[in-house]
Amino acid sequence: MSQVSPLAVTPPTEAGIVIIGGGQAGGWAAKTLRDKGYSGVLTVVSDESYDFYERPPLSKAVLLDEGESVGLSRLFSADVVAGLDISWRRPIRAERILPDEQIVLLNSGERLAYSQLLIATGGTPRVPDSKWTNHPSVLTLRSWDNAIALKKRLRQCKTLAIVGGGWIGLEIAASARKLGVEVTVFERQDVLCQRSVGLEVSQALLKLHQSNGVQVHCACGDITLGEDKQGNALIGSGVTAEQAFDLAVVGIGVELNLSLARDAGLAMTSGIVVDANGRTSHPAIFAAGDVACHPHLGLCIQSWAYAQNQSIVAACSMLNTEAEGYDEPAWLWSDQYDANIQILGIPAAGTHCVERVDGASHLFIYLNADNQLVQMVAFNDGRAIKLGKRWLAANRTLDPAQLSDPGFSLMTLR
Ligand SMILES: Cc1cc2nc3c(=O)[nH]c(=O)nc-3n(C[C@H](O)[C@H](O)[C@H](O)COP(=O)(O)OP(=O)(O)OC[C@H]3O[C@@H](n4cnc5c(N)ncnc54)[C@H](O)[C@@H]3O)c2cc1C
Repeated sequence: MSQVSPLAVTPPTEAGIVIIGGGQAGGWAAKTLRDKGYSGVLTVVSDESYDFYERPPLSKAVLLDEGESVGLSRLFSADVVAGLDISWRRPIRAERILPDEQIVLLNSGERLAYSQLLIATGGTPRVPDSKWTNHPSVLTLRSWDNAIALKKRLRQCKTLAIVGGGWIGLEIAASARKLGVEVTVFERQDVLCQRSVGLEVSQALLKLHQSNGVQVHCACGDITLGEDKQGNALIGSGVTAEQAFDLAVVGIGVELNLSLARDAGLAMTSGIVVDANGRTSHPAIFAAGDVACHPHLGLCIQSWAYAQNQSIVAACSMLNTEAEGYDEPAWLWSDQYDANIQILGIPAAGTHCVERVDGASHLFIYLNADNQLVQMVAFNDGRAIKLGKRWLAANRTLDPAQLSDPGFSLMTLR
C-alpha cells in the first residue's frame, strides 16, 4: 500500500499558476490572468509585505512629501486586489525552482507546486562591497521601505553624496536639491547616464544639475568610503580629497535577481532569455519585467512601461489568449527638477544627433546613416515622443534640416 508523504504536493495539472515577485510585472501579470478569465489557483510569492506598487514615485514625490500625503502608489485599489483572489505568500522568499518537478521551494519550508510559473523578481541595488551595505550613513533606493528611510534621513541632512550619476542617482539629486540639501554626485564614467544616452544628452543633464547647484565629479576614479566619529560618510575619490557627508546614497545600478532562473538552468544572457511571448527556455516557465531580456533588443530594459506591457503579454501567453507577441521599443522617463525627460529607443554606434530647441522643449534626435530614427530624448515634450514611436515603427526617413528647425511643425510628419 502506498503511503502519502506529508510533503506530497498537488499534481502539477491542478497546481495553478505561481508568480514569483509582487512588483510591477508580477502585479500586471496577476491582474491580466484574472481579466482574461483564469479561474484556477493564483499564488504570488513576494518578499515585500505590500500589495503591488509602482516604484517611480519613490525617488520623486515620496522624497519630496513633507508629511504623509504621498502613500504607496498602488497598482490597483485594495478592492481590485482582493477581487483577484490571490493566494499570497508574503513576506516570503522563493529560494529554488525545481523545474522537472514543477515546484518552488520557499524559505517558509513550503514546496509550492505549479502548472505554470512566472519569474518577475526585479533587481537589488548594487553596492561596491559589504562595507557600504553596513555603513550607518549609506543608503540605497529600490523599495517603499528604502524610500521612507531615505525621506527621513534627508530631512536631517545638510550634505548628501550620491555615488553614481545614472537615472536614480540624478532623480535623488534633484529631489534633495528641492529640499535644500547640498548635493555632490560622483560618477566613474566620463559623463552622466553614459550607458543609456548619447554625449549631447549627458551634457544637457550635467548642465541641468550644475545650474541647480549640484557638484558633479565625472571620471572620478575609485571612490573610497570611511566613517568619522559622528558616523558620517567620509567619501574620497580620484579627483577629490576625502570629505564628510551627512548621508551617502549609492545609485550604481542593480543586480538583477537572476539566481532562481540560473539555478533552474534557464537560458540566460544579461537577463533571462524570453521569446516575444515571455516564454523562457523551459515550456512551463515565463519571465517578465526587469529580469526578462527584451525579446528583440536582447537586453534588460528596466523600465515601468516594459514591466507593465511585457508582463501583460506574458500573462496572455500563459493562457494562450491574444498572445500577439511583445514588440514595443524601449521607452522610459525621468523627472528631474521641472524637466520631464523621456527616452525612446536605445543608443547605437554610427548615429548623428539633431537638436531642436523650441521654448521649453529640447529634443535630441539620433538618426542613422539613412536618416531613420534610432533614439529620441525629449526634455519636456511628450508629444514628440509619440511621433517618434510612429517614426520608429514605420522606419521613416527624416530630414535633419526640418527636424532642427523650430519653425517647422513636426506634426506634419505624423
Ligand atoms: C526608485 C525608482 C525609480 C524609478 N523610476 C522610474 C521612472 O521614472 N521611469 C521608468 O520607466 N522606470 C522607473 N523605474 C524602474 C521601474 O520601476 C522598474 O523597471 C519596475 O519596477 C520593474 O518591475 P519588476 O516587477 O520587474 O521588478 P520590481 O518592481 O522590482 O518587483 C520585483 C519584486 O520581486 C521581489 N522579489 C525578488 N526576489 C524574490 C524572491 N526570491 N522571492 C520573492 N520575491 C522576490 C522584490 O522584492 C520585488 O518586490 C524606477 C525604479 C526605481 C527603483
